[in-house]
Amino acid sequence: MAPEPAEAPGEWRARARAFSERYLAPLASAIDREDRVPDEVVRSLARERFLGLGIPEAWDGAGGDTRSLSAALEELARGSAAVAVLLSVHLAVCAHPILRWGTEGQKETHLRPLARGDRVGAFGLTEPGVGSDAARLSTRYERRAEGFRLKGTKMFTSNAASAGTILVFATHDPALGPKGISAFIVPPGTPGFSVAQRLDKLGLRGSETTELVLDGATLPPESLLGSEGEGLRIALESLTAGRVGIASCALGVARAAFEELVRSVRAADAEWARGELARAYAHLASAEALVERAAELKDAGRPYVEAASVAKLVASQAAVSIASTGVSVAGSAGARAGATAERLWRDARVFPIVEGTTEIQELILARGLLGDRPTSNL
Ligand SMILES: Cc1cc2nc3c(=O)[nH]c(=O)nc-3n(C[C@H](O)[C@H](O)[C@H](O)COP(=O)(O)OP(=O)(O)OC[C@H]3O[C@@H](n4cnc5c(N)ncnc54)[C@H](O)[C@@H]3O)c2cc1C
Repeated sequence: MAPEPAEAPGEWRARARAFSERYLAPLASAIDREDRVPDEVVRSLARERFLGLGIPEAWDGAGGDTRSLSAALEELARGSAAVAVLLSVHLAVCAHPILRWGTEGQKETHLRPLARGDRVGAFGLTEPGVGSDAARLSTRYERRAEGFRLKGTKMFTSNAASAGTILVFATHDPALGPKGISAFIVPPGTPGFSVAQRLDKLGLRGSETTELVLDGATLPPESLLGSEGEGLRIALESLTAGRVGIASCALGVARAAFEELVRSVRAADAEWARGELARAYAHLASAEALVERAAELKDAGRPYVEAASVAKLVASQAAVSIASTGVSVAGSAGARAGATAERLWRDARVFPIVEGTTEIQELILARGLLGDRPTSNL
């Protein structure tokens, strides 16, 4: 196996910062307005090797650890939250699970193109009426001589419209509960698999979110990721890692909102807003420390479920609170559609929902604090 590249977390941060400031920030407003990340941006992410972060060179990845990925996501989100979320979903809940649970054959077929950035990855767990309690999902699969046949609908699937590869979770029999759920790798162009609609959103516009229909999609036996019945574990472990990514994106938005707030307070010479500014700084600094800690624990191979939850909870709250202060301090200018403060607030407001809501992070934390047995909640 080829050695990992020597790039340290700080080097990935510097590269992502330069890319974000020079290239993404000037495009952020158009990405939001047009609700589309241009293909050229995705190609640039591939050229810069961001789409292969955390994947070994042996699989055409760019190497790097969780701290590298976290730093890169934070910097990219400072420029465009939608682009950072696209990358976080592609890696943390699609490419990295294939690296972790995939067979050599699956890595050859699916991981290589994801790591090179030839395809974008997606994760289909949520369904109409099934979100926080994923164990109740209703997409069904049947075993067939030719493999597996899937039927059901997935909602809010990020990246799926342009994705090449989607991890889809389905149950063999809902009566089996968590034990009935398996994970499948759905390649592009699978017959019986289609995007029913693209969902319009408050924030993170540009990060495509779609409804997917699996109408008897037939997959070969080698599409099963992990073992049958292991799907919920794969989903929950992937989402724990994903939370460190989403927390990093939220931290980037919190930082962008803080920088905007400093500009507004200076411009308005707003003496009265100094306390708000100091509180925003305290919130930002706590989020930063918690995100760093979660990434460090993951890299050290230590338990990090609670660290990921508290990082996601605090970073998304920091983003909402600082962005909201930014709108207030900017006054009527902050309320205008298209204002930076307004876009940052809309982007920030989605983070407490995506990849496990704030209430679910509170449940996970309380469960850890009280030493309860894990539940199926995300
Ligand atoms: C922008 C965006 C992108 C997304 N991308 C993806 C994706 O790529 N793949 C994917 O599978 N999903 C994705 N999702 C879905 C997301 O993970 C779910 O929206 C989220 O898990 C919440 O599920 P829900 O929307 O069904 O809300 P519900 O689960 O119905 O929750 C509604 C409210 O009830 C609260 N609640 C629910 N259960 C409890 C409880 N036990 N205790 C206390 N409060 C509770 C929640 O906190 C929330 O406030 C995305 C969502 C968004 C907004």
